[in-house]
Amino acid sequence: MDTVIDAHVHIGSSTQDYFQYIRNSNIKGAVIFPHVDEIYARYISNFKDNKKWQNRRKVANDYVLSLKTVEDFKVFPFYFVWNDFNTEKLAFYNGIKWHRHSDEPTYDYKSEKCKGFVNEIQKRNLPVILEEEFENTLLFINSLAPKARVIIPHCGLLNGGYERFCKFTIWEKEKIYTDTSLAEPEIVEDYIKRYGHDRIMFGSDFPFGFPKMQLNEILELEISEEAKEAITTLNILKLLGEKVKQKIDMK
Ligand SMILES: [Zn+2]
Repeated sequence: MDTVIDAHVHIGSSTQDYFQYIRNSNIKGAVIFPHVDEIYARYISNFKDNKKWQNRRKVANDYVLSLKTVEDFKVFPFYFVWNDFNTEKLAFYNGIKWHRHSDEPTYDYKSEKCKGFVNEIQKRNLPVILEEEFENTLLFINSLAPKARVIIPHCGLLNGGYERFCKFTIWEKEKIYTDTSLAEPEIVEDYIKRYGHDRIMFGSDFPFGFPKMQLNEILELEISEEAKEAITTLNILKLLGEKVKQKIDMK
């Protein structure tokens, strides 16, 4: 089998062992961003940003950049943004991770800083992995960042559910992508049947999912070989603007 890229990986000081988990597999590259726990205090709903957390966030995002040097492995670092909306180092990243669950502290969508950040990512054409509750997902894709290419992870599982995205015809939008991480195989098959295999990518969501197990689920799907290759390698490379030739270089 060909080279595989994992399109959804969290790596931080406590979750570096990803590389042990993918040993002897075809996974030769990954989209990598920090662990949520290093970005904001997710269990404190009235959490206010502060210097300590801004620094923690900076260290976590910088750490992901330092992984660029991992041998024989292609790292696509994504910047995990929170309410400081720091644009300073965006030039070094291939995309953005934007993440929040309904019971967690909120992004300050009304702030000028937020608008500035979104303008910057649209200008740089950086894809955004957006995990947010449904209303905020709509706000993001329809009014805040209509030009951005957005990956709704887990086939929508944590953004309001897969079916809801079907009902609102969101998967049909040209700029909306998804990943397979933690999604039921039946849902992945249903997505492919309805919307094709050009905007769906394999992801493991490590450390919440195990890469080899998640990959096997995709390889065992009753879909064409062409679809499997698109999902495990080609789609994410195209999305990131990598030449498909790169795939051969990485072997
Ligand atoms: Zn994740």
